[in-house]
Amino acid sequence: MSNEHPVLEQAAPEIYRAVILGTGVSGLCMGRALRKAGITSFLIIEKSAGIGGTWWDNTYPGAECDVRSHLYSYSFDLNPDWSQAYAPQPEIREYLVRFATKFDLLPHIRLNAALTSASFDAGQGLWLLQLENGEQLKASFFICSAGPLSEPRYPDIPGMDTYEGRLFHSARWDHDYPLNGKRVAVIGTAASAVQIVPRIAPLAARLYVCQRSPNWIIPRLNHVYAPWEKALFRLKPIAKTNRFLLYWLHEMNRLSFNPSGFMARIGRGLAEWHLRRQVIDPRLRGALRPSYPFGCKRVLLSNDYYPTLMRSNVELIDTPIDRIDRNGIVTRDGQKREVDVIICATGFNVKHMLSVEIRGLQGYRLNEAWAGEPKAYQGVTVASFPNLFILLGPNTGQGHTSAILFIEAQVNYALKCIQEVARQRKRFLSVKPEAMNRYNEELQKTLSTSVWAAGCRSWYKTESGKIIGIYPGFSFQYAKQLREPRFEDYVMC
Ligand SMILES: Cc1cc2nc3c(=O)[nH]c(=O)nc-3n(C[C@H](O)[C@H](O)[C@H](O)COP(=O)(O)OP(=O)(O)OC[C@H]3O[C@@H](n4cnc5c(N)ncnc54)[C@H](O)[C@@H]3O)c2cc1C
Repeated sequence: MSNEHPVLEQAAPEIYRAVILGTGVSGLCMGRALRKAGITSFLIIEKSAGIGGTWWDNTYPGAECDVRSHLYSYSFDLNPDWSQAYAPQPEIREYLVRFATKFDLLPHIRLNAALTSASFDAGQGLWLLQLENGEQLKASFFICSAGPLSEPRYPDIPGMDTYEGRLFHSARWDHDYPLNGKRVAVIGTAASAVQIVPRIAPLAARLYVCQRSPNWIIPRLNHVYAPWEKALFRLKPIAKTNRFLLYWLHEMNRLSFNPSGFMARIGRGLAEWHLRRQVIDPRLRGALRPSYPFGCKRVLLSNDYYPTLMRSNVELIDTPIDRIDRNGIVTRDGQKREVDVIICATGFNVKHMLSVEIRGLQGYRLNEAWAGEPKAYQGVTVASFPNLFILLGPNTGQGHTSAILFIEAQVNYALKCIQEVARQRKRFLSVKPEAMNRYNEELQKTLSTSVWAAGCRSWYKTESGKIIGIYPGFSFQYAKQLREPRFEDYVMC
């Protein structure tokens, strides 16, 4: 348990109404919704030692929101005190801890509690949840809010196990290892790397940035708020108008992902201009220009990444890595760079809970059901897995706006389902397979002609190329779909 945020213990009831996995934005949002609905018999279990999920794990230098913070906050708990337009990680984590305190969630949270397996007992209509410490919990509803981006993915490079220097993942930053004067390699050049590289370059003796494929990068219009601006954000009408404007500004970004549209040309033009303006060397510029369409991979925001690559102690390595040996990195052209530390900014295993064994009706396993290609009805429920709600589940990622918009829609949906089961005095509800399949066929049809289907590798896709990460529409379309559950698509028992 974290010393920083002591969490009260509560007497364990025999059967919880709901068990929620994780204390990230989603898990906390679900907890607050249950409390607001008068449901207090629930537990939030968290394997880490602190609250915050993504914002507890990612403490790397430069970790910041890449969506405007007044939009990356709950719609019902606006924060007038963000220090800047794109808040840094410690502030976001503090916001989440404050949220948990304010909405009385602390007594419901159990930290250092990892779930290892969950199975649905149809006879009792209960989820049986096995914790790592041997304890078993029982709950009517199981909310899987374990985060699509919570399990670090390490690169699979020959010889990595023979490396004798320090090696860590960006989401598990080793703060006990100062980088001053060290020879550092950063593997990966996506969202985390573009934040890390500018911060550590002034410390390192030498910094090698290993790129597999470049990303489209646009300017980041950050702004530090003056006290008078924060005072204005305290006025509800101003805070709401500001959020409304930000909401629609971000929704407009979605238009830039329509492959041949006007906004796509604007988006790409902006990124090209940014690259031309910041990188003078034509060879470096060529190495940094993506060959795939704007939006195929997540578009990044940074003003200082390109300039950092031009520092005399920094080198962009765009030749693929062949192997890692005892003390360095060897690229396919045979060149070796000796390094003291390797930082893997290589993203996450977007497996949607496959590290926990989940069994539904008749012992059916979720990873068998998915066979490497996660899918769900409206991204939330899965046929044969009754009373299970996945938050930020398959095909609910977005590249253009705040994930919290999707989370809030899913939380309200799950709550309505929970209430309907009680209203009808049933034990469980389960989505019909045909409804789930129909939803996914339509979704995949839309995705097949989208920018995400273009030739790029991204975390939105499986190895086989199926798009499982992203929702192809606007956030208002998704929210509208989820506003009222279509109970005709469910069976209730
Ligand atoms: C570095 C980074 C930056 C990001 N920036 C943005 C951004 O700017 N804007 C945006 O919209 N989105 C951003 N995202 C996406 C971000 O993940 C979501 O916005 C949001 O934080 C997800 O919240 P969550 O609660 O669903 O998942 P998480 O925050 O990942 O929380 C899941 C929690 O579940 C816990 N858990 C997992 N498995 C178990 C288990 N078996 N037992 C117990 N506990 C378990 C984890 O420890 C974790 O605490 C970012 C992601 C990363 C990684």
